[in-house]
Amino acid sequence: MVGAMRVLFASAEVHPYSKTGGLADVAGALPRALTALGHEVLVVSPWYADLRAAPPPLWIGDIDAPFADGFEAVGVGTMERGGVRYAFVGHDDFRRGRLYGYDDDVRRFCRFSRAVPAVAERVGFLPDVLHANDWHTAYLPMVLAHGWHLPAGFQQLPSVLTVHNVQYQGESDIAQTLRWLRLPAALAGSSIDHFGRANALQAGLGYATRVTTVSPTYAEEIQRPEYGYTLDGTFRHIRDRLVGILNGLDTDEWNPATDAHLPSSFDARHPDGKAAAKRTLAARLELAVEPPLLGVVSRLADQKGIDLVIAAGDRLVAQGWTLAVLGSGEPALERTLSALAARHPGRISATIGFDEGLAHLIYGGADALAVPSRFEPCGLSQLIAMRYGTLPIARDTGGLHDTVAHDRTGFLFESARPEGLLKATELAREAFDTPGWRRRVRQAMRQDFSWARSANRYDALYRSVVASPR
Ligand code: ADP
Repeated sequence: MVGAMRVLFASAEVHPYSKTGGLADVAGALPRALTALGHEVLVVSPWYADLRAAPPPLWIGDIDAPFADGFEAVGVGTMERGGVRYAFVGHDDFRRGRLYGYDDDVRRFCRFSRAVPAVAERVGFLPDVLHANDWHTAYLPMVLAHGWHLPAGFQQLPSVLTVHNVQYQGESDIAQTLRWLRLPAALAGSSIDHFGRANALQAGLGYATRVTTVSPTYAEEIQRPEYGYTLDGTFRHIRDRLVGILNGLDTDEWNPATDAHLPSSFDARHPDGKAAAKRTLAARLELAVEPPLLGVVSRLADQKGIDLVIAAGDRLVAQGWTLAVLGSGEPALERTLSALAARHPGRISATIGFDEGLAHLIYGGADALAVPSRFEPCGLSQLIAMRYGTLPIARDTGGLHDTVAHDRTGFLFESARPEGLLKATELAREAFDTPGWRRRVRQAMRQDFSWARSANRYDALYRSVVASPR
């Protein structure tokens, strides 16, 4: 039986180098936790600037990676940080204003995926297992099974694919995609085909040795049409290979005992600093300090259910809450949030934008955090909130269901309508005036959401994958 393993971890984003969402946090934290267990991890990710210009990483030159009709050069940059090795792939395709959102995204990440084995070989890393993430790198298991021009040792390498969000799947033309990946045209009828279009995520589901998603409940939900985004049948088909493993929280970054964004520190045994954070927050946002404070820190996207908060806004104030909302995203939601705040001076504040410091202050200073997501693969904000003694009022779905205990460490509601949210905020509002609130806060703060636990689950998974017949 193997002891330490070599894990090749491929991800389109990795904190702190690139980030649009939770994928970056996982790619930043899980490899470190695996390294702490004794494994060797190489993280391969695109470098979204000019590899030759920036001081980090160390650019070690170009390699020829298989792509389309032949080979094309990509730059390779390396770095080591906290015992984890990083190899970055540089190419004009990645030097753009944003990480994604371009018409040629699938082509760009076919190029990246095809470069991953070549880059690993270039830096002398022969893995025991490949760990791919989301649609961007989901073609890799298929490439390992059938690709031409793989380095020695990569053919039939066992693989894990983690699905962080089923909504994004990577669609393109089948013949063209097989050509980009240098895969045989005969694979057109394989799991790449989703209603006549190439679907990267479905191809990965078909070829990966094991598939994971980021919470047990989400792993069940995506087998149903309401959550599967047309892949529910595929998830049902592979359910024997599918498992949900909760994400952890970076407990160094999110620690109220050491958080420099807070006016004074606190923890479960010394919770007094929380009141100071609330005063600072209320003063900064010009909100009344006495009423219970309900925070929101979120992308403003349909998934997050912020429209529920907007529709319930007047009634939340009537229940006695003040609201501190921080978010950015869809312009229509940004506008209606700002209008709602303008109608309730001193009671509702809306800050539009991405503001790390204010986010910390809201987690620290609010009494509760609204997380009304329509679906939530795992969710980070409720974990942060609990660590900061802020009780989540969350929809009972996905990772929220798996991490928030109703009426113990937070409040859950089922219906994705304003009335559902309002029922839970009402319950919380009543509890706020009782001694039971402090007990709930202490319980929330004592939960263990560290990465160590999740890393053990991945460790066991890698072992079973490596042991399974190729
Ligand atoms: P998702 O990855 O779907 O956006 P998560 O809850 O997993 O949702 O992670 C969101 C992360 O982004 C959290 O760390 C949250 O604090 C942060 N975040 C979201 N919106 C903002 C914002 N406007 N300003 C600062 N941080 C934000």
